[in-house]
Formats: sequence, structure tokens, C-alpha cells
Amino acid sequence: MKYKRILLKLSGEALMGEKSYGIDPNILQQYTQEIKKVKDMGVEIAIVIGGGNIFRGVQAEKSGIDRVQGDYMGMLATLINAMALQSALEQGGMYTRLMSGIKIESVCEPFIRRRAIRHLEKGRIVIFGAGIGNPYFTTDSTASLRAIEVEAEVVLKGTRVDGVYTADPEKDPSATKYDTITFHEVYEKNLNVMDMTAFTLCQENNLPIIVFDMNKDGNLVELVKGQKIGTLITS
Ligand code: UDP
Repeated sequence: MKYKRILLKLSGEALMGEKSYGIDPNILQQYTQEIKKVKDMGVEIAIVIGGGNIFRGVQAEKSGIDRVQGDYMGMLATLINAMALQSALEQGGMYTRLMSGIKIESVCEPFIRRRAIRHLEKGRIVIFGAGIGNPYFTTDSTASLRAIEVEAEVVLKGTRVDGVYTADPEKDPSATKYDTITFHEVYEKNLNVMDMTAFTLCQENNLPIIVFDMNKDGNLVELVKGQKIGTLITS
């Protein structure tokens, strides 16, 4: 296998599946199965999950909620998803720890870097909930930062699209997919991979990103084995 320690970024929005809000149990099940396959290969897995299926800070402003307050609400939304994922993974027979960027002691551990690494070494899947714990950030930034902190070898960004395209494939049918692309090219062509904070963190720390379709069976396993799936972004 190519990677020993990965950081998997799952979007909250993808967790909705066919629903218009909340968590689709089928998607949760599917993610559990895919993650189990990789776990059984002996890979150390850290996970960051988004909260877009429940709440986004930017949308709060429109409803008269203060932006910062909205961001904290968004962070709590990611924690709800993280708890659902934790439960599903444990039902699937895996050991997990949930670490939060905001202290919520009766529910999960606070994020402590050394402790997170220790959990990974012991074979526990570590889920990072509540983002970084600061407003004006995203779960993509959380994924990049935590990946660097726990020394993951790659950020695997699971989405509904199967990689990075020359243009938005849902709007432009002539768009083509990149198999590999450099950080510089992504920046120059203004392609949408992650928000700039998240992207720059990866670039400056030489941490590769792979954007791939998480909803396709077997993709995660093949990626970890080193197969070319999705789009690889490197220096
Ligand atoms: N958020 C935040 N700080 C963080 C992580 C998340 O303020 O470190 C908030 C932000 O408001 C964001 C929301 O949580 O809109 C949900 O996360 P995100 O939009 O990244 O979720 P995704 O799009 O991946 O579902």
C-alpha cells in the first residue's frame, strides 16, 4: 500500500445523499464499509467531516444571525456529523476517538496533537469534530491543518465529483478532468479545489491532496494502494 497514514475529508453535504437535509443512513453505511476496508489493510486513518448538510456560517448572515455565532453553529453541526460517523464506525467494529476543536467534555476529547497521534498509532480511527475551533475557517482548512499536525501523508478529499476539472463539469459539458496537477497550476487557473487557506497550507507544507469520488465503491481502497483515481495535486 502507498499510504500508511491518511487524512480523509468527507463533506457534510455528501452525507445528505438523496435527502435535502441531514444525514442519509445509507451514505453513512457506505462510508463505514469503505473505511473498514482501508482499516483492515492496516492504514492509520484520521477523518475530518464537514457540516454543510446541517448548517453553514455564511448562510447564517442571511437570516440575521451574527457571522461568528453562525460559524460556531456550523462547527457544532460538524460535531453532530462526527458523532453519527463515530457511532456508525463503531457499529462496524472499528475503534474510534472523537476529538473536538471546541471543548465539549461530556461528549468527546479536546484536540491534543500528541494524543491524536497516539490514538492513530494504536489503530484507532480519529475523527476531528468542530473544525479548528475558530470562526472564519472551514473544514477543508481543518483537514489541511490536522493532516500536517498528525503527519498524515496525504489529504484525501472525498466529494461527489471524481476529481478536478478544467471547468465545472455540471455547468460545462466540455470540461475535462486532470489526473495530476500542481499546486501552482491550480492557483494560476483559479480552479476550485479547496478554499485558499486550506490550499495554501497544503502547498506550503508539501502535503499532496487527492480529490476523488467517495461515493464510488472501492475508490478509497484503490487510492490507498496507489492506484491513480481522482486528481492528485502536488508541488
Ligand atoms: N466552521 C468554522 N470553523 C472551522 C470549521 C468550520 O467556523 O474550523 C464552520 C463554518 O461556518 C462552516 C461550517 O462550520 O461553514 C460547516 O463546515 P463546512 O462548510 O466546511 O462543511 P462542508 O462544506 O464540508 O460540509
